[in-house]
Amino acid sequence: MSKSLRLSEKWFRRGLWLVALVFASFLIGLGSTVVSDLPQVERRLQLDDFIDKPAAMPLRDTIKASQATELQAARDLDQIQLQLNAAQQASANARETFGNWIATRRATAQPDQDTELIARTKALDAFKQKEDEIQRQVNAQRQIVLDARQAEQRAAASLGELEHEAQIKLNAEYRRVELRVFLYRLALTLPLLVVAGWLFAKKRKSTYWPFVWGFIFFALFAFFVELVPYLPSYGGYVRYAVGIVLTVLVGRYAIVALNRYLARQKLAEQQPDQVRREELSYDVALARLGKSVCPGCERPVDLKNDEIDFCPHCGIGLFDHCDQCETRKSAFSKFCHACGTSAHAEPGGAAAPA
Ligand SMILES: [Zn+2]
Ligand SMILES: [Zn+2]
Repeated sequence: MSKSLRLSEKWFRRGLWLVALVFASFLIGLGSTVVSDLPQVERRLQLDDFIDKPAAMPLRDTIKASQATELQAARDLDQIQLQLNAAQQASANARETFGNWIATRRATAQPDQDTELIARTKALDAFKQKEDEIQRQVNAQRQIVLDARQAEQRAAASLGELEHEAQIKLNAEYRRVELRVFLYRLALTLPLLVVAGWLFAKKRKSTYWPFVWGFIFFALFAFFVELVPYLPSYGGYVRYAVGIVLTVLVGRYAIVALNRYLARQKLAEQQPDQVRREELSYDVALARLGKSVCPGCERPVDLKNDEIDFCPHCGIGLFDHCDQCETRKSAFSKFCHACGTSAHAEPGGAAAPA
């Protein structure tokens, strides 16, 4: 990761990071399209798949038949009820007429009318009889309705029990399906994460680093974001466990890298000045000088002080003098800024004087 100070290179790098992000976003799009097609692997489950069918079918038939019976009986009942009303009305009218007639008869006291009395009483009885008969029909019809309703309720209660059992089985099956879908997704995303880890460790500085980083972003997104909506209750454990493992790995890597850097730095500081200067890339040295730190040991140095020619921490030469014109110049610059003489014209003598 050489830090260049060249303007175009800087912008090229930014462009390449953009390429990495765009690459990642397309990979994410492709990945989520694939993942969203996954649930179709599973058949949609229904309550009927789990119900005890031989037991449930007759119950359903009973419910249907009872409902039909109840409906028909209720309609018939309405009709008969109307007839009953008519009969009651007729009976009441007849009684009233008879009452009037009896009153008249008492008033006139005509014994020759006894036969008519008998006939009228009979007619009145007939009315009453008809009324009773229809009332019986009404009661019978009510009984039918009640029987049908109770049969329906009994069947519905039994069916409810069966459906409850089926629902428990269905829920268990749903949990299994959920687990399967989660495992499919895990089986897809976990290898991505492993590949991303390998790419990070081995290839992140390769020529094609934008694609490497794009893939790493994609794998992280796929595992930590896209998997989330499909996590079963214990899926959180998987996610956090993987997160912890990943953090430990990255942390360990960083700690090892830091120690390696410090060891390298220590070793470098024991090397002769010229070797150290040659090991530093020109751009890195300029970038570090730009931040007012020693290019050799990266500790802060007061570069504006004319008295300081060497790093007080590691002893690397920071300033020297041009071989031609004796101008004081940066020991890392390739040419003298005053006369343009190449600083490498006479190596070895570059840092020695002063
Ligand atoms: Zn230093
Ligand atoms: Zn010069």
